[in-house]
Amino acid sequence: MPETLLEVEGLKKHFPIRSGLLQKQTGSVKAVDDVSFTLNKGETLGLVGESGCGKSTTGRMLMRLLEPTEGKIIFDGKDLTKISKSEMRKARKDIQMVFQDPFASLNPRHTVERIIEEPLIVHGLGNKQERKKRVKELLDIVGLSSYHAGRYPHQFSGGQRQRIGIARALAVNPKLIIADEPVSALDVSIQSQVLNLLDDLQKEFDLTYLFVAHDLGVVRHISDRVAVMYLGKIVEISDGDQLYEQPKHPYTQALLSAVPVADPDYKKERIILGGDVPSASNPPKGCPFHTRCPMAMSICKEVVPNLQEVEQGHLTACHLYGESK
Ligand code: SF4
Repeated sequence: MPETLLEVEGLKKHFPIRSGLLQKQTGSVKAVDDVSFTLNKGETLGLVGESGCGKSTTGRMLMRLLEPTEGKIIFDGKDLTKISKSEMRKARKDIQMVFQDPFASLNPRHTVERIIEEPLIVHGLGNKQERKKRVKELLDIVGLSSYHAGRYPHQFSGGQRQRIGIARALAVNPKLIIADEPVSALDVSIQSQVLNLLDDLQKEFDLTYLFVAHDLGVVRHISDRVAVMYLGKIVEISDGDQLYEQPKHPYTQALLSAVPVADPDYKKERIILGGDVPSASNPPKGCPFHTRCPMAMSICKEVVPNLQEVEQGHLTACHLYGESK
């Protein structure tokens, strides 16, 4: 029986919109709107969607880098939304983050050694000598060399910088790593090297990943399960293979139709979505996707579809399936 490490329930992040002289709240941007999912120990969940769909905001709320408006984040049996800021600082030892832009997330004035040992200092782990030894060990683990320790971030390539970011995240032996678009800023040729490294590290250190990406192609090989987000909501979640082979939600079908395939003889029809993603400050009534959905029916404009199981372990929020059909 898989052991649950993280349980997210009804998570919301609504940013207030203020206007006028008195800065009165006149509305809100529903960046994340009622998101629920679980993550088992040793599992990778890919969280995918276009920019602005709320996936990165969700990742940041899990670390409480952003305070949730509502909802529960049960990590290792403890609700992170209920603990104090100082308890949260301690909890961050078990939840680390790898960021999209390795250059922006590494202090340019610090040596690699200083960057990687920082989480050890923050959490009071080891003396100077032990930390030095650990940095060398981590550099080796991520495929760099101990002589890199004295260098600065600008002396590395993008892929190497992301390896430094990964070493820093690993330093305190976390249980969960939130990887926020960790390969989107890298050349395609380097992306697979970094993905393979993350895959190897997961096996070696029994890590659990929440892997945020805007491209379904990127998360395919690394994810056990994939959740697709649209306008602040999860619209489909399933085992990776099932989602790629039998996508249920019209939005997932459209995203998948844009993923290139290696076989030149395989022809697939690209589904081009009309219109833009509506604003999260004024989401459409009913199904949030109805303004762009090629399958939209009249009920879609009125009733919000619930995320419901359509096959074992495969959930989707669409009126084409289930009771409301
Ligand atoms: Fe399309 Fe309707 Fe399904 Fe929404 S509920 S995805 S609009 S068919």
